[in-house]
Amino acid sequence: MAAYEYETHEFDVVVVGAGGAGLRATLGMAEQGLKTACITKVFPTRSHTVAAQGGIAASLSNMGPDHWQWHMYDTVKGSDWLGDTDAMEYLAREAPKAVYELEHYGVPFSRTEEGKIYQRPFGGHTTEFGEGPPVQRTCAAADRTGHAILHTLYGQSLKQKAEFYIEYFALDLIMSDDGVCQGVLAWKLDDGTMHLFSAKMVVLATGGYGRAYFSATSAHTCTGDGGGMVARQGLPLQDMEFVQFHPTGIYGAGCLITEGARGEGGYLTNSEGERFMERYAPTYKDLASRDVVSRCMTMEIREGRGVGPNKDHIHLHLNHLPPETLDLRLPGISESARIFAGVDLTKEPIPVLPTVHYNMGGIPTNYWGEVLNPTADNPDAISPGLMAVGEAGCASVHGANRLGSNSLIDLVVFGRAAAIRAAEVVDPASAVPTPNLASVEKAFDRFDGLRHASGSIGTAALRLEMQQAMQADAAVFRTDKTLAEGVKKMEDVAGKMSDIKVTDRSLVWNSDLMETLELTNLMPNALATIVAAEARKESRGAHAHEDYPDRDDKEWRKHSLAYVDDTKTTLDYRPVHLDPLSKEEDGGIDLKKIAPKARVY
Ligand SMILES: Cc1cc2nc3c(=O)[nH]c(=O)nc-3n(C[C@H](O)[C@H](O)[C@H](O)COP(=O)(O)OP(=O)(O)OC[C@H]3O[C@@H](n4cnc5c(N)ncnc54)[C@H](O)[C@@H]3O)c2cc1C
Repeated sequence: MAAYEYETHEFDVVVVGAGGAGLRATLGMAEQGLKTACITKVFPTRSHTVAAQGGIAASLSNMGPDHWQWHMYDTVKGSDWLGDTDAMEYLAREAPKAVYELEHYGVPFSRTEEGKIYQRPFGGHTTEFGEGPPVQRTCAAADRTGHAILHTLYGQSLKQKAEFYIEYFALDLIMSDDGVCQGVLAWKLDDGTMHLFSAKMVVLATGGYGRAYFSATSAHTCTGDGGGMVARQGLPLQDMEFVQFHPTGIYGAGCLITEGARGEGGYLTNSEGERFMERYAPTYKDLASRDVVSRCMTMEIREGRGVGPNKDHIHLHLNHLPPETLDLRLPGISESARIFAGVDLTKEPIPVLPTVHYNMGGIPTNYWGEVLNPTADNPDAISPGLMAVGEAGCASVHGANRLGSNSLIDLVVFGRAAAIRAAEVVDPASAVPTPNLASVEKAFDRFDGLRHASGSIGTAALRLEMQQAMQADAAVFRTDKTLAEGVKKMEDVAGKMSDIKVTDRSLVWNSDLMETLELTNLMPNALATIVAAEARKESRGAHAHEDYPDRDDKEWRKHSLAYVDDTKTTLDYRPVHLDPLSKEEDGGIDLKKIAPKARVY
């Protein structure tokens, strides 16, 4: 056994993650009188939520008529009928309450003339069950909504006396032999000490795994650590094949170039200087929908017409537009292009690439945030002592595709729901579980093995191999052939984990080791994604399959479950929840309104 000394801590609840979801859960738990710790590998207000600009969806009706049922309908349709009906109803119904709470906590929302919360239109948000005009449903604090929410929630959590463990890296879950989560083991990054947190409930709020791909709009810290921890305990990941892409991330850096750039007249070209979108979408050209543009860009690259020395990206031109327009309409983009691509966009094109933007899949939960561990006779069986919220979780409200501004609302609605539920199931008077020492030992052994890993391939090199395989074969262009090749490549890449080389053996600020640990978390997320994608023989939401262009509700309206053990991934499925929370006569939605149909906009 690896010998490490460790400090012990006891709490009612330990939340791992301090993004929007983790902070809303932490605040809620502490408010309910539960002794709560929040562990985070980065300072809370540096979590990726801080980058969210656009806003947060809720049917407040501040800028015209709206209704939670219309929000629910749009979410169901957005999900391409893969979301769980009860969870989507809960999201849409609770959204206004959750936003007003944020307002009362002090989020500085932008205001209307009358002083109400300002709301802007967003793609896919409509009125009258898709029959009416677009609705202004997205509540915004200028173009820094995530920033405003995160700072407010952090302040409120401190006020509630939640205890923060900042720059602590959660390594592994501690589980009893019969599968009850008892806490988490963490490594304090700045002094190298080890910490065992025992708790009656652990909440994973670790965010997405965008960094499994070469190009992602998400922070470098989005490495799917929660998914990795769960997979190592033999628990499944759900609907991982559904990954949302944005057409214009800056090549290499991945930072987002807003759709507004093309809205202002920007256009894309290939290595032949051709405006190829005219060929694929003669009417809307560069302004066809996100998934269509992303797919066409990928086709051009695959067919050898990418730009750059490796022919692996595309050019976005804004240099034909008057500099005044760029200054006035796209000042932020001008700055991003300069800093992250070294490009003066009045003179040169921006190198861009379809870029991972959001993970619809994650750790399966019910709408209370309780983690599911489906059994043969109960697809909704829970894994005791464990919850997951935010992008790490899959409740599932986004199904096969997430609508813009529906993630921020997911964070606060389900962060809040987890706290409500924890207050019911966690007894502050009961004893904190005694940690299973075999589980603690196992976690230390894994850590120690990686710390002293002396194979032949460095972490950065192997991570790049994974990212390139995922970008090439599990991105927007998917065929039986590319996916099968991708699965093989990824199994191969994952196999090389046993030959990893870590050069720094110290315990203090060892970023080499931390990135290696993150890579061990990215790997199962990536494998689950590509294996589940290879198996799904239909097109639904973000999973557009060239060989099966249609959605197949008869065969495939089901959640996929991926169990990843090292390089081996086993798939299973569980039914989509079709029943709403409330009956129509009790004010619920008319199920006929949300019956499956073609998803056209
Ligand atoms: C550029 C960008 C713009 C976006 N804009 C919008 C928008 O306008 N509207 C919208 O609805 N959605 C938007 N999204 C999506 C949305 O912002 C994210 O889905 C959401 O913020 C994720 O929040 P989270 O709380 O789940 O995780 P995060 O905010 O990613 O936080 C994860 C937390 O987990 C911690 N953590 C992770 N692993 C460990 C570990 N091993 N040990 C300890 N701590 C750990 C981190 O320290 C961090 O605190 C955007 C996303 C991006 C990338």
